[in-house]
Amino acid sequence: MKKVAVIGGRAAGMMAAWACAQAGCQTDLYEKNEKLGKKLYITGKGRCNLTNGCAIEDFFDEVCTNARFLYSSVYGFTNRDVMQFFESMGTPLKEERGKRIFPVSDHASDVTKALEKAMRLAGVRIHLQTEVLEIKIKGSLTEKTQDQAPGQVIGIRTKNDSLIPYDAVIVATGGLSYPSTGSTGDGLRFAKAAGLKVITPSPSLVPLEVAEGDAAAMQGLSLKNVRLTLKSGKKIYYQDQGEMLFTHFGISGPLVLTASSHLKILPPGSHFKQDAKAPDGTSSDDLRVYIDLKPALSEETLDRRFIREFEASPNKQLSNILPALYPAKLIPVILQRAGINPEKKARDITKKERADLVAVTKKLVFHVTGTRGFREAIITRGGVDVKAIEPATMEAKTVKGLFFAGEVLDVDAHTGGFNLQIAWSTGYAAGMGAASRDVTGE
Ligand code: FAD
Repeated sequence: MKKVAVIGGRAAGMMAAWACAQAGCQTDLYEKNEKLGKKLYITGKGRCNLTNGCAIEDFFDEVCTNARFLYSSVYGFTNRDVMQFFESMGTPLKEERGKRIFPVSDHASDVTKALEKAMRLAGVRIHLQTEVLEIKIKGSLTEKTQDQAPGQVIGIRTKNDSLIPYDAVIVATGGLSYPSTGSTGDGLRFAKAAGLKVITPSPSLVPLEVAEGDAAAMQGLSLKNVRLTLKSGKKIYYQDQGEMLFTHFGISGPLVLTASSHLKILPPGSHFKQDAKAPDGTSSDDLRVYIDLKPALSEETLDRRFIREFEASPNKQLSNILPALYPAKLIPVILQRAGINPEKKARDITKKERADLVAVTKKLVFHVTGTRGFREAIITRGGVDVKAIEPATMEAKTVKGLFFAGEVLDVDAHTGGFNLQIAWSTGYAAGMGAASRDVTGE
């Protein structure tokens, strides 16, 4: 019987192990944590948005990096297949806003339980608290010698065993985001040691830091139905309407996280390099977020609204009128930026001051100075270069028996269940690929 090791006991690894075992392999799953699915517990705010119910051809529009590479694996194990898999394992699902799919129970733990059940039924042997330290490869290659004969996986090394022999190894160790959950980039190290190219990782779907101190003054303020534009010079990276949040370092929330995934100025770490340039030549120095606080109102309509409010209460101080229009934490910031004394009475507000209020409301500007680090990034951009990987089986082209799946690869997508779908699809492809490969190495 063919022997396969899977490294990483989360979305991609558990799916790969199940696929491999049900296809007839003796499958061992290695996870360095004390339990499976640790990151899954925190996905979708503890509810796990496990896929998206979109038409499968629309899925690829949501992939930020290397969508084409994913065609084969995603069509091979689609979002419908994922939903059927979980429902067949006793986890009923429901669809919410934006076609996001969740367990009916709203418990991310049910997703892990379903996978554990599937693996148990298929006979996967699970080794918890077992960190894989090295993948043993016979005739392993460096990048420079890729034209020579391919290497061949012979097994793995753990703390207790110098060589546990395997015919194939699937690396599903994730990227670098939320390292506290175990994703510390081991797979990237394994890939490099095997002579594969790794695209420099950077945090994505990540909060943004801004220069202006007044963002921190609004810490905790969540805004709904605002329009956010991320721009550098004339280049618009992202624009959409939705929800965002102010934090002690800058801005976060769904709109901001999605905006971060559109950034072409890739920061090497948590902060932009002063000289970072986008392909079109724009610089991170110019990177701004513009927030339209009242996207449903034109400037004229907003001005008329101010006039109405001011005429209704001419003797009230401005700071007492504005709560009808803005949340409390926003008012000092708006007034300060518009340069208006908060104690000024409504009847004394000039036309110019009204115009300034309108301008700040329609365009609250922040200078983006960097992203937060991997510790706060939902996803890692970069990873094992997909050019080195067979898209149908996830096998490395230059090392027979070495497979990769999930976030360790240079693929990433928007929020909405798309990243987990990538993990399920590539995990399934790798499991089936490992099961079907010829162990004679022919
Ligand atoms: P990981 O989940 O990173 O798993 C890698 C596993 O490998 C870990 O368990 C790690 O301990 C183990 N490991 C690493 N090295 C070794 C080693 N040497 N030996 C043994 N084990 C090892 N995506 C969605 O689609 N929907 C969501 O709702 C969603 N919410 C998210 C919320 C948060 C806060 C975060 C951080 C991410 C979220 N994501 C979401 C993204 C999603 O969690 C990832 O895309 C997904 O977890 C990637 O799965 P993976 O199996 O490839 O890697």
